[in-house]
Amino acid sequence: MPMHKEVETCSNQDLHYLPSNQPVFSCKNCSCVIALQDELCSKGFTGSSGTAFLMNSTINTNLGEKEERKLITGTHTCADLLCASCGTSLGWKYLKTPTAEQKYKENRYILEQARVVKENNW
Ligand SMILES: [Zn+2]
Repeated sequence: MPMHKEVETCSNQDLHYLPSNQPVFSCKNCSCVIALQDELCSKGFTGSSGTAFLMNSTINTNLGEKEERKLITGTHTCADLLCASCGTSLGWKYLKTPTAEQKYKENRYILEQARVVKENNW
């Protein structure tokens, strides 16, 4: 009896292994690994509590409700990014941006520096 199972492989949020010997960001509250530093896209962002990182992907995170946010640069569709382990808000994910110049942010994640710990010595 063949088992036919469709496996979704494109989800970045479903990594079931932890990378070894790689610098990571972890949740400040519970130390759960939430992103690889290799996935850092830009450091020049500002979150609600100061410096924020734009990430290509995250690990062990959940998304909150999708919502429209009016920012200086226009109305963005975002969703809160939550630690899958403790539920702390870590930043947000950009789902839709208002202009073509900002499209690079779509499907990327903002991590607020104040909510994460940078770990270099795994
Ligand atoms: Zn956590």
